[in-house]
Amino acid sequence: MNREVYGKLIFELSRPGSRGTRPVSDGAAFPKAELPADLTRSAAPALPELSEPEVVRHYTRMSTNNFGVDTGFYPLGSCTMKYNPKINDALSALPAMARLHPLAPDSDCQGALRAYWELQRSLSEIGGMAEFTLNPYAGAHGELTGLMIIRAWHDERCDKKRTKVIVPNSAHGTNPASAAVCGLEVVEVASLPDGTVDVEALRPLLDDTVAAMMMTNPNTLGIFESRIPEIAKMVHDCGALMYYDGANLNPMLGVARPGDMGFDVMHINLHKTFSTPHGGGGPGSGPVGVRAGMEHLLPAPRVVKQEDTDTFSVMREDPGSCGSVSPTLGNVGVELRALAYILTMGRDGLAMAGPLATLNANYVKESLRDVYKLPVDRVCKHEFVFDGLADKSTGVTTLDVAKRLLDYGYHAPTIYFPLLFHESLMIEPTETESRETLDEFIDVMRRIAAEALSDPDTLKAAPVNTPVGRPDDTKAALEPIVRFTK
Ligand SMILES: *Cc1c(COP(=O)(O)O)cnc(C)c1O
Repeated sequence: MNREVYGKLIFELSRPGSRGTRPVSDGAAFPKAELPADLTRSAAPALPELSEPEVVRHYTRMSTNNFGVDTGFYPLGSCTMKYNPKINDALSALPAMARLHPLAPDSDCQGALRAYWELQRSLSEIGGMAEFTLNPYAGAHGELTGLMIIRAWHDERCDKKRTKVIVPNSAHGTNPASAAVCGLEVVEVASLPDGTVDVEALRPLLDDTVAAMMMTNPNTLGIFESRIPEIAKMVHDCGALMYYDGANLNPMLGVARPGDMGFDVMHINLHKTFSTPHGGGGPGSGPVGVRAGMEHLLPAPRVVKQEDTDTFSVMREDPGSCGSVSPTLGNVGVELRALAYILTMGRDGLAMAGPLATLNANYVKESLRDVYKLPVDRVCKHEFVFDGLADKSTGVTTLDVAKRLLDYGYHAPTIYFPLLFHESLMIEPTETESRETLDEFIDVMRRIAAEALSDPDTLKAAPVNTPVGRPDDTKAALEPIVRFTK
Protein backbone atom coordinates (compact mmCIF):
# COMPACT_ATOMS: atom_id res chain seq x y z
CA MET A 1 0.00 0.00 0.00
CA ASN A 2 1.37 3.43 -0.97
CA ARG A 3 0.94 5.42 2.19
CA GLU A 4 2.07 8.59 0.36
CA VAL A 5 -1.08 8.56 -1.75
CA TYR A 6 -3.44 6.78 0.65
CA GLY A 7 -2.95 9.20 3.49
CA LYS A 8 -3.47 12.36 1.43
CA LEU A 9 -6.42 14.74 1.24
CA ILE A 10 -7.73 15.70 -2.17
CA PHE A 11 -6.48 19.24 -1.49
CA GLU A 12 -2.96 17.94 -0.99
CA LEU A 13 -3.11 16.01 -4.27
CA SER A 14 -4.19 19.17 -6.13
CA ARG A 15 -1.90 20.54 -8.88
CA PRO A 16 -2.74 24.03 -10.15
CA GLY A 17 -3.91 23.89 -13.75
CA SER A 18 -5.07 20.24 -13.74
CA ARG A 19 -8.59 19.85 -15.04
CA GLY A 20 -11.28 17.24 -15.20
CA THR A 21 -14.13 18.67 -17.23
CA ARG A 22 -14.16 22.08 -18.87
CA PRO A 23 -17.45 24.00 -18.94
CA VAL A 24 -18.46 25.19 -22.41
CA SER A 25 -17.43 28.82 -22.41
CA ASP A 26 -20.19 29.92 -24.70
CA GLY A 27 -21.60 33.15 -23.31
CA ALA A 28 -24.97 32.42 -24.90
CA ALA A 29 -25.39 29.05 -23.15
CA PHE A 30 -24.27 30.43 -19.76
CA PRO A 31 -25.57 33.98 -19.43
CA LYS A 32 -23.92 35.98 -16.66
CA ALA A 33 -26.17 35.83 -13.58
CA GLU A 34 -27.38 39.10 -12.14
CA LEU A 35 -26.50 38.93 -8.44
CA PRO A 36 -26.20 41.74 -5.88
CA ALA A 37 -22.55 42.76 -5.57
CA ASP A 38 -22.37 41.96 -1.87
CA LEU A 39 -23.32 38.32 -2.59
CA THR A 40 -20.68 37.63 -5.24
CA ARG A 41 -17.13 36.39 -4.67
CA SER A 42 -14.20 38.67 -5.18
CA ALA A 43 -11.86 35.73 -5.87
CA ALA A 44 -12.35 32.21 -7.23
CA PRO A 45 -12.95 29.49 -4.57
CA ALA A 46 -9.91 27.40 -3.59
CA LEU A 47 -11.09 24.13 -5.09
CA PRO A 48 -8.72 21.21 -5.64
CA GLU A 49 -7.51 20.84 -9.21
CA LEU A 50 -7.07 17.31 -10.58
CA SER A 51 -7.76 15.28 -13.67
CA GLU A 52 -10.86 13.09 -13.78
CA PRO A 53 -9.03 9.75 -13.27
CA GLU A 54 -7.19 11.20 -10.26
CA VAL A 55 -10.48 12.24 -8.68
CA VAL A 56 -12.08 8.86 -9.37
CA ARG A 57 -9.06 7.01 -7.94
CA HIS A 58 -8.92 9.20 -4.85
CA TYR A 59 -12.54 8.50 -3.86
CA THR A 60 -12.42 4.85 -4.84
CA ARG A 61 -9.26 4.44 -2.70
CA MET A 62 -11.02 6.11 0.22
CA SER A 63 -14.00 3.74 -0.11
CA THR A 64 -11.64 0.76 0.21
CA ASN A 65 -10.14 2.14 3.43
CA ASN A 66 -13.30 1.18 5.29
CA PHE A 67 -13.08 -2.02 7.35
CA GLY A 68 -16.35 -3.89 7.75
CA VAL A 69 -17.59 -7.34 8.61
CA ASP A 70 -17.98 -7.86 4.84
CA THR A 71 -14.23 -7.34 4.35
CA GLY A 72 -12.80 -9.22 7.30
CA PHE A 73 -13.11 -10.86 10.72
CA TYR A 74 -14.36 -8.36 13.32
CA PRO A 75 -14.04 -9.84 16.84
CA LEU A 76 -15.15 -6.68 18.67
CA GLY A 77 -16.28 -7.87 22.11
CA SER A 78 -19.62 -6.59 23.43
CA CYS A 79 -20.58 -5.35 19.94
CA THR A 80 -21.64 -8.59 18.22
CA MET A 81 -20.32 -7.81 14.74
CA LYS A 82 -21.78 -10.87 13.06
CA TYR A 83 -22.17 -11.32 9.33
CA ASN A 84 -25.49 -9.86 8.17
CA PRO A 85 -27.14 -11.87 5.36
CA LYS A 86 -27.76 -9.71 2.29
CA ILE A 87 -31.36 -10.87 1.92
CA ASN A 88 -32.17 -8.85 5.06
CA ASP A 89 -30.85 -5.68 3.42
CA ALA A 90 -32.81 -6.43 0.26
CA LEU A 91 -36.07 -6.95 2.15
CA SER A 92 -35.67 -3.86 4.27
CA ALA A 93 -35.02 -1.78 1.13
CA LEU A 94 -38.28 -2.78 -0.58
CA PRO A 95 -39.81 0.55 -1.71
CA ALA A 96 -43.22 -0.34 -0.25
CA MET A 97 -41.61 -0.28 3.20
CA ALA A 98 -38.60 1.99 2.84
CA ARG A 99 -40.56 4.82 1.21
CA LEU A 100 -43.64 4.68 3.43
CA HIS A 101 -44.48 8.00 5.12
CA PRO A 102 -44.38 7.69 8.92
CA LEU A 103 -47.80 9.35 9.19
CA ALA A 104 -49.51 7.37 6.39
CA PRO A 105 -53.13 6.49 7.29
CA ASP A 106 -53.44 3.08 8.96
CA SER A 107 -55.75 1.83 6.22
CA ASP A 108 -53.01 2.44 3.60
CA CYS A 109 -50.27 0.47 5.35
CA GLN A 110 -51.76 -2.63 6.92
CA GLY A 111 -48.89 -4.74 5.60
CA ALA A 112 -46.25 -2.57 7.23
CA LEU A 113 -48.19 -2.45 10.51
CA ARG A 114 -48.46 -6.23 10.45
CA ALA A 115 -44.66 -6.42 10.02
CA TYR A 116 -44.17 -4.19 13.07
CA TRP A 117 -46.65 -6.20 15.07
CA GLU A 118 -45.04 -9.51 14.10
CA LEU A 119 -41.66 -8.20 15.18
CA GLN A 120 -43.15 -7.07 18.52
CA ARG A 121 -44.61 -10.57 18.96
CA SER A 122 -41.36 -12.30 17.94
CA LEU A 123 -39.22 -10.25 20.33
CA SER A 124 -41.74 -10.87 23.13
CA GLU A 125 -41.43 -14.60 22.51
CA ILE A 126 -37.62 -14.46 22.37
CA GLY A 127 -37.33 -12.32 25.53
CA GLY A 128 -40.11 -14.00 27.51
CA MET A 129 -41.91 -10.65 27.81
CA ALA A 130 -45.59 -9.70 27.35
CA GLU A 131 -45.10 -6.85 24.88
CA PHE A 132 -42.43 -4.76 23.16
CA THR A 133 -42.14 -1.21 21.83
CA LEU A 134 -39.92 -0.67 18.78
CA ASN A 135 -39.61 3.10 19.27
CA PRO A 136 -36.09 3.56 20.76
CA TYR A 137 -33.31 4.26 18.26
CA ALA A 138 -30.39 2.66 20.14
CA GLY A 139 -29.52 0.55 23.15
CA ALA A 140 -28.92 3.56 25.38
CA HIS A 141 -32.23 5.06 24.21
CA GLY A 142 -33.89 1.76 25.13
CA GLU A 143 -32.35 1.90 28.62
CA LEU A 144 -33.75 5.41 29.10
CA THR A 145 -37.18 4.25 27.87
CA GLY A 146 -37.10 1.24 30.18
CA LEU A 147 -36.19 3.39 33.19
CA MET A 148 -38.99 5.84 32.30
CA ILE A 149 -41.39 2.88 32.34
CA ILE A 150 -40.04 1.77 35.72
CA ARG A 151 -40.41 5.29 37.14
CA ALA A 152 -44.00 5.48 35.79
CA TRP A 153 -44.72 2.12 37.45
CA HIS A 154 -43.61 3.41 40.86
CA ASP A 155 -45.43 6.73 40.26
CA GLU A 156 -48.66 4.81 39.62
CA ARG A 157 -48.28 3.40 43.13
CA CYS A 158 -47.57 6.89 44.53
CA ASP A 159 -44.19 5.48 45.58
CA LYS A 160 -42.14 8.67 45.15
CA LYS A 161 -39.20 7.74 47.38
CA ARG A 162 -37.62 5.38 44.86
CA THR A 163 -34.87 7.42 43.23
CA LYS A 164 -31.93 4.97 43.13
CA VAL A 165 -30.80 2.54 40.45
CA ILE A 166 -28.30 -0.18 41.35
CA VAL A 167 -25.71 -0.85 38.63
CA PRO A 168 -22.85 -3.39 38.85
CA ASN A 169 -19.37 -1.87 38.47
CA SER A 170 -18.81 -4.16 35.47
CA ALA A 171 -21.76 -2.61 33.57
CA HIS A 172 -21.59 -0.96 30.17
CA GLY A 173 -21.11 2.80 30.58
CA THR A 174 -24.53 3.53 29.12
CA ASN A 175 -26.27 1.98 32.17
CA PRO A 176 -25.28 4.62 34.75
CA ALA A 177 -25.55 7.33 32.07
CA SER A 178 -29.16 6.38 31.22
CA ALA A 179 -30.12 6.30 34.89
CA ALA A 180 -28.65 9.77 35.38
CA VAL A 181 -30.43 11.13 32.27
CA CYS A 182 -33.68 9.73 33.71
CA GLY A 183 -33.07 11.78 36.88
CA LEU A 184 -32.24 8.74 39.02
CA GLU A 185 -29.30 8.30 41.36
CA VAL A 186 -26.74 5.61 40.45
CA VAL A 187 -25.55 3.27 43.20
CA GLU A 188 -22.70 0.95 42.23
CA VAL A 189 -22.54 -2.64 43.43
CA ALA A 190 -19.23 -4.50 43.48
CA SER A 191 -18.39 -7.58 41.40
CA LEU A 192 -16.59 -10.74 42.43
CA PRO A 193 -13.30 -11.52 40.65
CA ASP A 194 -15.22 -13.43 37.92
CA GLY A 195 -17.28 -10.34 37.12
CA THR A 196 -20.52 -11.71 38.59
CA VAL A 197 -22.48 -9.54 41.01
CA ASP A 198 -21.40 -9.77 44.65
CA VAL A 199 -24.71 -10.78 46.26
CA GLU A 200 -23.44 -10.04 49.78
CA ALA A 201 -22.49 -6.51 48.72
CA LEU A 202 -25.92 -6.06 47.14
CA ARG A 203 -27.97 -7.05 50.20
CA PRO A 204 -27.34 -3.91 52.33
CA LEU A 205 -28.08 -1.61 49.36
CA LEU A 206 -31.68 -2.76 48.98
CA ASP A 207 -34.34 -0.63 50.67
CA ASP A 208 -37.47 1.40 49.85
CA THR A 209 -35.47 4.09 48.00
CA VAL A 210 -34.39 1.69 45.22
CA ALA A 211 -36.35 1.88 41.95
CA ALA A 212 -34.52 -0.80 39.99
CA MET A 213 -31.48 -2.98 39.54
CA MET A 214 -29.88 -3.09 36.07
CA MET A 215 -28.06 -6.25 35.03
CA THR A 216 -26.31 -7.67 32.00
CA ASN A 217 -26.33 -11.45 31.65
CA PRO A 218 -23.98 -12.92 30.54
CA ASN A 219 -21.97 -10.12 32.13
CA THR A 220 -19.25 -8.13 30.39
CA LEU A 221 -16.75 -10.95 30.97
CA GLY A 222 -19.01 -13.32 29.07
CA ILE A 223 -19.78 -15.19 32.30
CA PHE A 224 -23.35 -16.32 33.05
CA GLU A 225 -24.82 -14.84 36.24
CA SER A 226 -26.06 -18.03 37.87
CA ARG A 227 -27.52 -16.31 40.96
CA ILE A 228 -30.13 -14.28 39.05
CA PRO A 229 -33.21 -15.98 40.61
CA GLU A 230 -31.91 -15.18 44.10
CA ILE A 231 -31.02 -11.59 43.12
CA ALA A 232 -34.43 -11.08 41.46
CA LYS A 233 -36.18 -12.27 44.61
CA MET A 234 -34.16 -9.91 46.83
CA VAL A 235 -34.84 -6.95 44.52
CA HIS A 236 -38.57 -7.71 44.22
CA ASP A 237 -38.88 -8.25 47.98
CA CYS A 238 -37.73 -4.68 48.52
CA GLY A 239 -40.33 -3.39 46.02
CA ALA A 240 -37.91 -2.59 43.19
CA LEU A 241 -37.88 -3.89 39.59
CA MET A 242 -35.30 -5.85 37.59
CA TYR A 243 -33.95 -4.31 34.36
CA TYR A 244 -32.16 -6.50 31.81
CA ASP A 245 -29.56 -4.97 29.50
CA GLY A 246 -30.08 -7.25 26.50
CA ALA A 247 -27.72 -5.40 24.17
CA ASN A 248 -25.78 -8.66 23.88
CA LEU A 249 -28.62 -11.16 23.60
CA ASN A 250 -26.72 -13.32 21.13
CA PRO A 251 -25.64 -16.11 23.52
CA MET A 252 -29.15 -16.35 24.96
CA LEU A 253 -30.92 -17.03 21.68
CA GLY A 254 -32.72 -20.32 21.99
CA VAL A 255 -31.15 -21.04 25.39
CA ALA A 256 -32.73 -18.83 28.05
CA ARG A 257 -35.20 -15.94 28.33
CA PRO A 258 -34.79 -12.91 30.60
CA GLY A 259 -38.54 -12.94 31.35
CA ASP A 260 -38.21 -16.46 32.81
CA MET A 261 -35.35 -15.32 35.08
CA GLY A 262 -37.46 -12.67 36.81
CA PHE A 263 -36.64 -9.57 34.79
CA ASP A 264 -39.50 -7.04 34.47
CA VAL A 265 -38.17 -4.73 31.75
CA MET A 266 -35.49 -5.25 29.09
CA HIS A 267 -34.06 -3.88 25.89
CA ILE A 268 -32.55 -5.63 22.89
CA ASN A 269 -30.03 -4.15 20.45
CA LEU A 270 -31.41 -5.17 17.07
CA HIS A 271 -28.24 -3.76 15.47
CA LYS A 272 -26.10 -6.28 17.34
CA THR A 273 -27.96 -9.56 17.68
CA PHE A 274 -30.50 -9.18 14.88
CA SER A 275 -28.43 -8.56 11.81
CA THR A 276 -27.87 -4.90 11.05
CA PRO A 277 -24.36 -3.74 10.14
CA HIS A 278 -23.52 -1.05 12.70
CA GLY A 279 -19.91 0.03 12.31
CA GLY A 280 -19.21 3.73 12.55
CA GLY A 281 -21.99 4.57 14.96
CA GLY A 282 -25.22 3.62 13.30
CA PRO A 283 -27.99 2.89 12.49
CA GLY A 284 -29.47 1.38 15.63
CA SER A 285 -32.65 0.15 17.24
CA GLY A 286 -33.23 -0.66 20.92
CA PRO A 287 -36.73 -2.14 21.41
CA VAL A 288 -37.96 -2.37 25.01
CA GLY A 289 -40.02 -5.23 26.43
CA VAL A 290 -42.12 -5.42 29.61
CA ARG A 291 -43.67 -8.26 31.56
CA ALA A 292 -47.44 -8.77 31.82
CA GLY A 293 -49.18 -6.00 33.76
CA MET A 294 -46.84 -3.27 32.50
CA GLU A 295 -47.92 -3.09 28.82
CA HIS A 296 -49.98 0.08 29.36
CA LEU A 297 -46.80 1.97 30.31
CA LEU A 298 -45.12 1.42 26.92
CA PRO A 299 -44.69 4.70 25.04
CA ALA A 300 -46.89 5.84 22.14
CA PRO A 301 -46.97 5.65 19.18
CA ARG A 302 -47.39 1.88 19.14
CA VAL A 303 -49.07 -0.71 16.93
CA VAL A 304 -52.08 -2.52 18.28
CA LYS A 305 -54.04 -5.37 16.75
CA GLN A 306 -57.83 -5.18 16.89
CA GLU A 307 -59.29 -8.01 18.95
CA ASP A 308 -60.27 -11.04 16.87
CA THR A 309 -59.60 -9.34 13.52
CA ASP A 310 -56.60 -9.01 11.28
CA THR A 311 -56.65 -5.21 11.44
CA PHE A 312 -53.82 -3.13 12.84
CA SER A 313 -53.75 0.48 13.94
CA VAL A 314 -51.29 2.94 15.44
CA MET A 315 -52.12 4.32 18.86
CA ARG A 316 -50.57 7.77 18.38
CA GLU A 317 -50.99 9.20 21.87
CA ASP A 318 -51.42 7.60 25.25
CA PRO A 319 -51.63 9.85 28.32
CA GLY A 320 -51.46 6.79 30.60
CA SER A 321 -48.03 5.69 29.29
CA CYS A 322 -44.52 6.53 30.49
CA GLY A 323 -44.33 9.38 27.96
CA SER A 324 -42.96 9.63 24.45
CA VAL A 325 -39.43 8.80 23.30
CA SER A 326 -39.88 9.03 19.53
CA PRO A 327 -42.37 10.60 17.12
CA THR A 328 -42.28 7.48 14.89
CA LEU A 329 -42.44 3.73 15.36
CA GLY A 330 -38.64 3.61 15.36
CA ASN A 331 -35.86 2.86 12.91
CA VAL A 332 -37.77 0.99 10.21
CA GLY A 333 -34.77 -0.18 8.18
CA VAL A 334 -33.23 -1.92 11.19
CA GLU A 335 -36.57 -3.34 12.32
CA LEU A 336 -37.29 -4.92 8.95
CA ARG A 337 -33.82 -6.48 8.82
CA ALA A 338 -34.49 -7.97 12.25
CA LEU A 339 -37.84 -9.40 11.18
CA ALA A 340 -36.31 -10.82 7.99
CA TYR A 341 -33.48 -12.33 10.05
CA ILE A 342 -35.88 -13.93 12.55
CA LEU A 343 -38.14 -15.33 9.83
CA THR A 344 -35.31 -16.69 7.65
CA MET A 345 -33.49 -18.24 10.63
CA GLY A 346 -36.70 -19.68 12.05
CA ARG A 347 -37.05 -21.09 15.54
CA ASP A 348 -34.49 -23.85 14.97
CA GLY A 349 -31.94 -21.56 13.32
CA LEU A 350 -32.15 -18.99 16.12
CA ALA A 351 -31.79 -21.75 18.69
CA MET A 352 -28.43 -22.67 17.11
CA ALA A 353 -27.01 -19.13 17.09
CA GLY A 354 -26.40 -18.80 20.85
CA PRO A 355 -24.77 -22.24 21.37
CA LEU A 356 -22.59 -21.81 18.27
CA ALA A 357 -21.45 -18.32 19.36
CA THR A 358 -20.57 -19.88 22.73
CA LEU A 359 -18.67 -22.75 21.13
CA ASN A 360 -16.65 -20.37 18.90
CA ALA A 361 -15.72 -18.12 21.83
CA ASN A 362 -14.55 -21.04 23.96
CA TYR A 363 -12.58 -22.49 21.03
CA VAL A 364 -10.62 -19.25 20.56
CA LYS A 365 -10.16 -18.81 24.33
CA GLU A 366 -8.80 -22.33 24.85
CA SER A 367 -6.50 -22.04 21.80
CA LEU A 368 -4.80 -18.90 23.10
CA ARG A 369 -4.78 -19.21 26.89
CA ASP A 370 -1.17 -20.36 27.09
CA VAL A 371 0.11 -17.12 25.48
CA TYR A 372 -2.50 -14.60 26.72
CA LYS A 373 -3.45 -14.14 30.36
CA LEU A 374 -6.89 -15.51 31.18
CA PRO A 375 -8.03 -13.83 34.42
CA VAL A 376 -11.32 -15.72 34.74
CA ASP A 377 -10.86 -19.39 34.05
CA ARG A 378 -14.40 -20.59 33.40
CA VAL A 379 -16.52 -21.67 30.46
CA CYS A 380 -17.56 -18.40 28.82
CA LYS A 381 -20.62 -17.57 26.76
CA HIS A 382 -20.37 -15.49 23.56
CA GLU A 383 -17.20 -13.60 24.54
CA PHE A 384 -14.26 -13.61 26.92
CA VAL A 385 -11.59 -11.26 28.21
CA PHE A 386 -7.82 -11.69 28.28
CA ASP A 387 -5.72 -9.49 30.56
CA GLY A 388 -3.02 -8.81 27.95
CA LEU A 389 -0.15 -11.15 27.07
CA ALA A 390 0.79 -13.89 29.50
CA ASP A 391 4.42 -12.77 29.46
CA LYS A 392 4.47 -9.16 30.65
CA SER A 393 8.28 -8.87 30.68
CA THR A 394 8.51 -7.43 27.14
CA GLY A 395 6.45 -4.32 27.93
CA VAL A 396 4.16 -5.06 24.98
CA THR A 397 0.64 -3.90 25.88
CA THR A 398 -2.90 -4.74 24.77
CA LEU A 399 -2.85 -1.58 22.66
CA ASP A 400 0.24 -2.86 20.78
CA VAL A 401 -1.42 -6.24 20.15
CA ALA A 402 -4.59 -4.53 18.88
CA LYS A 403 -2.62 -2.23 16.56
CA ARG A 404 -0.57 -5.14 15.21
CA LEU A 405 -3.78 -7.04 14.36
CA LEU A 406 -4.62 -4.22 11.92
CA ASP A 407 -1.43 -5.01 10.02
CA TYR A 408 -2.63 -8.59 9.60
CA GLY A 409 -5.99 -7.45 8.21
CA TYR A 410 -8.19 -7.91 11.29
CA HIS A 411 -10.38 -5.46 13.15
CA ALA A 412 -9.07 -5.13 16.70
CA PRO A 413 -11.02 -6.64 19.61
CA THR A 414 -12.48 -4.30 22.24
CA ILE A 415 -9.62 -3.06 24.42
CA TYR A 416 -9.37 -1.63 27.94
CA PHE A 417 -13.01 -2.57 28.65
CA PRO A 418 -14.25 -3.89 31.04
CA LEU A 419 -12.32 -1.82 33.56
CA LEU A 420 -11.92 -4.79 35.89
CA PHE A 421 -8.42 -5.55 34.50
CA HIS A 422 -5.53 -3.30 33.41
CA GLU A 423 -4.98 -4.88 29.98
CA SER A 424 -8.48 -6.03 28.97
CA LEU A 425 -8.71 -7.55 25.49
CA MET A 426 -12.29 -8.60 24.84
CA ILE A 427 -12.92 -11.06 22.02
CA GLU A 428 -16.30 -12.03 20.52
CA PRO A 429 -16.03 -14.22 17.42
CA THR A 430 -19.84 -14.71 16.86
CA GLU A 431 -21.52 -17.76 15.38
CA THR A 432 -21.13 -16.68 11.75
CA GLU A 433 -17.39 -17.42 11.48
CA SER A 434 -16.03 -20.70 10.14
CA ARG A 435 -13.53 -22.95 11.87
CA GLU A 436 -10.98 -21.92 9.19
CA THR A 437 -11.42 -18.19 9.93
CA LEU A 438 -11.04 -18.80 13.66
CA ASP A 439 -7.91 -20.92 13.08
CA GLU A 440 -6.31 -18.18 10.97
CA PHE A 441 -7.09 -15.61 13.68
CA ILE A 442 -5.64 -17.88 16.36
CA ASP A 443 -2.48 -18.29 14.25
CA VAL A 444 -2.07 -14.54 13.94
CA MET A 445 -2.67 -13.96 17.66
CA ARG A 446 0.02 -16.56 18.44
CA ARG A 447 2.38 -14.99 15.90
CA ILE A 448 1.91 -11.59 17.62
CA ALA A 449 2.66 -13.18 21.01
CA ALA A 450 5.89 -14.58 19.52
CA GLU A 451 6.78 -11.19 17.98
CA ALA A 452 6.38 -9.62 21.42
CA LEU A 453 9.42 -11.67 22.47
CA SER A 454 11.48 -11.53 19.28
CA ASP A 455 10.69 -8.07 17.91
CA PRO A 456 8.85 -5.86 20.41
CA ASP A 457 9.86 -2.68 18.55
CA THR A 458 7.74 -3.61 15.52
CA LEU A 459 4.75 -4.12 17.79
CA LYS A 460 5.34 -0.78 19.47
CA ALA A 461 5.37 0.89 16.01
CA ALA A 462 2.34 -1.00 14.61
CA PRO A 463 0.37 -0.61 12.47
CA VAL A 464 2.90 -0.24 9.67
CA ASN A 465 0.75 -1.41 6.71
CA THR A 466 -2.28 0.88 7.10
CA PRO A 467 -2.89 4.30 5.49
CA VAL A 468 -2.56 6.00 8.88
CA GLY A 469 -0.03 4.81 11.44
CA ARG A 470 -0.52 5.31 15.16
CA PRO A 471 -1.95 8.77 15.84
CA ASP A 472 -1.59 10.41 19.23
CA ASP A 473 -5.11 9.71 20.59
CA THR A 474 -4.90 12.36 23.28
CA LYS A 475 -3.63 15.08 20.96
CA ALA A 476 -6.27 14.16 18.37
CA ALA A 477 -9.01 14.53 20.99
CA LEU A 478 -7.66 17.71 22.56
CA GLU A 479 -6.50 19.48 19.39
CA PRO A 480 -8.56 18.10 16.53
CA ILE A 481 -7.64 19.49 13.11
CA VAL A 482 -10.93 19.63 11.26
CA ARG A 483 -10.10 22.20 8.60
CA PHE A 484 -7.50 22.02 5.85
CA THR A 485 -5.02 24.88 5.75
CA LYS A 486 -2.08 24.99 3.37
C1 LIG B 1 -23.71 -1.75 23.00
C2 LIG B 1 -24.19 -1.87 24.39
C3 LIG B 1 -25.06 -0.90 24.94
C4 LIG B 1 -25.43 0.38 24.23
O1 LIG B 1 -26.03 0.25 22.98
P1 LIG B 1 -26.03 1.47 21.94
O2 LIG B 1 -26.92 1.03 20.83
O3 LIG B 1 -24.61 1.68 21.53
O4 LIG B 1 -26.58 2.68 22.64
C5 LIG B 1 -25.53 -1.12 26.22
N1 LIG B 1 -25.15 -2.20 26.95
C6 LIG B 1 -24.31 -3.13 26.45
C7 LIG B 1 -23.93 -4.33 27.31
C8 LIG B 1 -23.78 -3.00 25.16
O5 LIG B 1 -22.93 -3.91 24.68
